[in-house]
Amino acid sequence: MAMPPDDSAVDSSVNILVMNAGSSSHKVRLYRIEGPGLPDDPPDPLWEGKIEWSAPGGAERTVTRNTAVDKATARETLPPGTARADGVSHLLEMLWRGGMAVLGGPDEVAAIGHRVVHGGRHLREPMRVTPDVMATIQELAPLAPEHNPAACEGMEITEKLFGQAAPGVAVFDTAFHRTIPDAATVYPGPYAWVEQGIRRYGFHGISHAWCAERAARMLVDHDPGTLRLICCHLGNGCSLAAVRGGQCVDTTMGFTPMEGLMMGSRAGSIDPGVLLHLLGQHGGPTLSDLGRVLNEESGLKGLSGVSEDLRAVLSAIDGGDERARLALDVYIHRLCWHIGAMTASLGGLDALVFTAGVGENSAVVRRAACRPFAFLGLALDEGKNAGVSETDPGTDRDISRADSRVRVLVIPAHEEWAVARECWRLTFAGKAA
Ligand code: ADP
Repeated sequence: MAMPPDDSAVDSSVNILVMNAGSSSHKVRLYRIEGPGLPDDPPDPLWEGKIEWSAPGGAERTVTRNTAVDKATARETLPPGTARADGVSHLLEMLWRGGMAVLGGPDEVAAIGHRVVHGGRHLREPMRVTPDVMATIQELAPLAPEHNPAACEGMEITEKLFGQAAPGVAVFDTAFHRTIPDAATVYPGPYAWVEQGIRRYGFHGISHAWCAERAARMLVDHDPGTLRLICCHLGNGCSLAAVRGGQCVDTTMGFTPMEGLMMGSRAGSIDPGVLLHLLGQHGGPTLSDLGRVLNEESGLKGLSGVSEDLRAVLSAIDGGDERARLALDVYIHRLCWHIGAMTASLGGLDALVFTAGVGENSAVVRRAACRPFAFLGLALDEGKNAGVSETDPGTDRDISRADSRVRVLVIPAHEEWAVARECWRLTFAGKAA
């Protein structure tokens, strides 16, 4: 097993900025880490900023400052036509300018962590951002067109604003999956695909790694070297990871984040024959139409016709909407089917872990996902399951019955903190002031 990182180091406080760039939003968080080491539990960010590019009334910026003295939130619609780079630069400048400032200037940021969705075959560990690393991330853009270019843009902006004094660290969503054996990553197409890097990479790795680590800490009766977990990251995007002894052995997403589970607006796995059929039809969809349909008009949204948001689908079901019912049934069927596949990859199961928007908040989905696995001795505590709600964001918790042979855990996702932690480790660990 890898040596545990040395988390004792600096003895003064440092400010770590985290950039999380996506297609529809850009999230920024500032964490103040008081020396000499990392805290055991995720601290609240000192400052959070977010731009939602496709908010209903136009691009919207939300900033929250969370100091010992006060907590305040400011929301504003950006002027129409604001370029993304300008929007993000202005957001970052609010760290030290105007009413929401928490810093005296950009020089108070010590290091910057960037979440990067696709690291391909070569970028497999957190690493310093260099021109070469940025070039590789940019080259991988065709594999993550919504995310990798946005991450590179974020790196350019922070380099301009903060200079070389605040080193950048890239943390990759694909990295946790590097231990998956070839049997689970190779597609059974022609061998040329293997040579071209057309294989399964897996995503949501920062979240899965976090959940696996937190679950191992909770399950003190299990040997962490053999512990078998399935992490269910159920947000707008959904994926599972099968983790044995802290190492990922299988996952549901593949070459792109489109494979696997049914998601908010993504179809997940479907017979590729359906695509050939549609593309071959006279007057059928173009490639880009098909991409849009599979990414944005499928999943819960496509089937229900209501929304990609599970809450809206559930309330439509309460109102008797049959299509919404069908959408939820397919979502649950596919979730259970893939949990079964991950159980086979692990050769058994010690704990099922739920995280992200749906996983943390939907008792309905957790109950339905657990039901078929009673034969493994998995027994959910209905009261504890129902008790975990948005009004009780809480901490990590066990919602299985005392006699359950498989534990069921709810572990809040902390992707930005997980990036901040890696950034701190790479930049400061072992460098006592
Ligand atoms: P992302 O993948 O964009 O990070 P999140 O992890 O924030 O998404 O998850 C967002 C989804 O979580 C929403 O679309 C919604 O369907 C779901 N969600 C949030 N709260 C609840 C809830 N109380 N009940 C059911 N679903 C919820």
